[in-house]
Amino acid sequence: MSKIRAGDSSGVDAAPKRDFGERILAMAERLAAHSDSPSGLECTVLRPAHRATAADLLAWMGEAGLSAAIDGIGNVVGRLPAANAAVRTLVIGSHYDTVRNAGKYDGRLGVLAGLAVAEELARRNVALPFHLDVVAFAEEEGVRFLTAYLGSCAFTGRFDPEWLERHDDDGVRLADALAENGFAPTAIPSLSRRSDLAAYLEVHIEQGPVLIAEDLPVGIVSSIAGAVRHAVVITGVAGHAGTVPMSLRHDAAAAAAEIVLLVERRCAAAPGLVGTVGRLAIPNGALNVVPGRCEFTLDIRAVDDATRDAASADVLAEIDRIAARRGVSVDIREIGRSPAVACAPRLAAAFEQAIGRAGLRPFHLVSGAGHDALQFDGICDMAMLFVRCGNGGVSHSPLETVTAADVDVAARVLLDTILVLAESWRSGTPVITA
Ligand SMILES: [Zn+2]
Repeated sequence: MSKIRAGDSSGVDAAPKRDFGERILAMAERLAAHSDSPSGLECTVLRPAHRATAADLLAWMGEAGLSAAIDGIGNVVGRLPAANAAVRTLVIGSHYDTVRNAGKYDGRLGVLAGLAVAEELARRNVALPFHLDVVAFAEEEGVRFLTAYLGSCAFTGRFDPEWLERHDDDGVRLADALAENGFAPTAIPSLSRRSDLAAYLEVHIEQGPVLIAEDLPVGIVSSIAGAVRHAVVITGVAGHAGTVPMSLRHDAAAAAAEIVLLVERRCAAAPGLVGTVGRLAIPNGALNVVPGRCEFTLDIRAVDDATRDAASADVLAEIDRIAARRGVSVDIREIGRSPAVACAPRLAAAFEQAIGRAGLRPFHLVSGAGHDALQFDGICDMAMLFVRCGNGGVSHSPLETVTAADVDVAARVLLDTILVLAESWRSGTPVITA
């Protein structure tokens, strides 16, 4: 069979071997059978379900005609090589780990869309001017070791060796979990592919309701919101719920309640700004005790860092005032900060072209959630395509759902985008540098 050059009409128009949507959903269903919990989908890094999932992906990549391997942290990498070995690589990726009691599509949808599209390119014998790697990242959610993006950070050379000393809830060090799985912790720096990367594309379920409201199957991500996170501890004075008069109380939980409402009010004040108190605890709380201590987390995100930082500064200043007025002390610790990151306009334009060719309205939206794509910022161009999420946009839940029709559109747009990128390279005006 002779090679079809990307951009030849015979390559673009050849009918796919099978329906992408149905096939991708069937694969997601099969992966969801691997779970470390009997009561829902749970696939956290380097545990048995994770190994079983990686094994399926590795086998499917091989069957799809890719040369596939698992790297030293559990990323599953399948390659459709270019004829010229010296060119750089277009990566299509997302993650295969999950949260606890997860949905079947968060992360996996992007991996499987990449796999189905690469299989189709292999089947058509399309000669791409760049290597195409489909990468299933081992870890993105941060569930087991409370540090996220382990897979994509290793892949992009951003893995911090200090993370190896982190423990899971059972006291297992990440370094030991890697060794148990046959991976050498000291070899992680050698997994970096940063000098070889031409661009990164990620398909991901939206995890929100915007595309439902727009009545569109897919949308182009314009930027990924930056987050700043704090852990807050309020210390008041514990006392007897029956004997301490209201006017003499220093109730840590009541102070926290006032702060929760403050966060809600302040973060409703600007479009694209969101603030959440996601964990809230009264340690050793009891029915008949005025709370002496309250701990909570604070997560503030916005599409631009200035908006986010202004909201964060206002909230922290107001927390101090609330604490002073109530006679409680407050300890605030920043536990995470990530900048807002813009997707590459040139890649977004390629998505736009492919969406237009599919007869759909190109629509741009912001990602409020972080994704593996963040780790490619500053290393190579990156862009993301969101797929409409059913059930009102719920994700990180077994209620998470997508339709085969929408997934089919997403895979076709991804396929056509790759062909657009290849065409641009052949026409001498490459969108990405191979
Ligand atoms: Zn995800």
